[in-house]
Amino acid sequence: MARSYVREARRRGLGRRRERIGSIIERLATEHADAEIALRFRSDLELLVSVMLSAQTTDVNVNRVTPALFEKYHSAEDYLAVPVDELERDIYATGFFRQKAKAIRGTMRMLIEEFDGQVPGRLEDLVKLPGVARKTANVVAAELGHAQGVVVDTHVRRLSQRLGLTRNHDPVKIERDLQRIVSRADWARFPHLLIWHGRRVCDARRPRCEECVLEDLCPASRLR
Ligand code: SF4
Repeated sequence: MARSYVREARRRGLGRRRERIGSIIERLATEHADAEIALRFRSDLELLVSVMLSAQTTDVNVNRVTPALFEKYHSAEDYLAVPVDELERDIYATGFFRQKAKAIRGTMRMLIEEFDGQVPGRLEDLVKLPGVARKTANVVAAELGHAQGVVVDTHVRRLSQRLGLTRNHDPVKIERDLQRIVSRADWARFPHLLIWHGRRVCDARRPRCEECVLEDLCPASRLR
């Protein structure tokens, strides 16, 4: 499917990816001026835990759990000071609680042993943390102000394909394609713009092309 949208863009004379990307970012930035991470956190550690908890669930669900969680756990040591089943109960509502509790405790242990209890800013360090995959690491690094890649979640993947910015399906390959055309200064905000556009307009099942500010730039538009 993605392959056809790259070709379709050419067929419709919409211009090359590099030529369209500037307008895409500009229009989305105007349309979704409030686009930012939906998770609520007050520190680097809370950011890391929130992003780890957001796997396989919604940000809204995570935000329901974290106020009480962060009242109780302030430091990396705090997550190791309770029995694992207590932490599991505290994060139960985010789903996959056993897996997540194990990953959080493993991460906290490594933070203490290798990073003085602090969250590292480098992507190569973040991905060493147990249970922290590239997407999580990219989100954390970007929010810490050191974006070193482009976050590719389900919305970023779908919109990048529909907009003909990639012909790939694998998130790592999509990220590589986006890094080639999006300027580094926009690596942090670009995913937020696509995520919010995906939530508000370019729905997975029913994209509202008639309301979309990208319609004339999009090879997947249903209006033509
Ligand atoms: S024109 Fe339609 S398919 Fe293309 S980005 Fe907009 S809503 Fe999505």
